[in-house]
Amino acid sequence: MTDETENADNVIHDVPFGESKGKCPECGSMHTVPILYGYPMEEAMDAARRGKIQLGGCVIRGDDPRKYCKDCDHRW
Ligand SMILES: [Zn+2]
Repeated sequence: MTDETENADNVIHDVPFGESKGKCPECGSMHTVPILYGYPMEEAMDAARRGKIQLGGCVIRGDDPRKYCKDCDHRW
């Protein structure tokens, strides 16, 4: 019983929705935010200022990265 509680801290949470949440493939950080493309509305600008999202600009080429890592600056 005591061993179980001790191990609980070491469990790496493999969250089922981890993909949508976004884990950085470069550094494994979970401090990632979605990149928003298109003309940012005031709401999006505010979210970007708070670091909730990353603004990708107005130009969409089709193969643009969808996620941004706040820890290592990686986009994918
Ligand atoms: Zn990273």
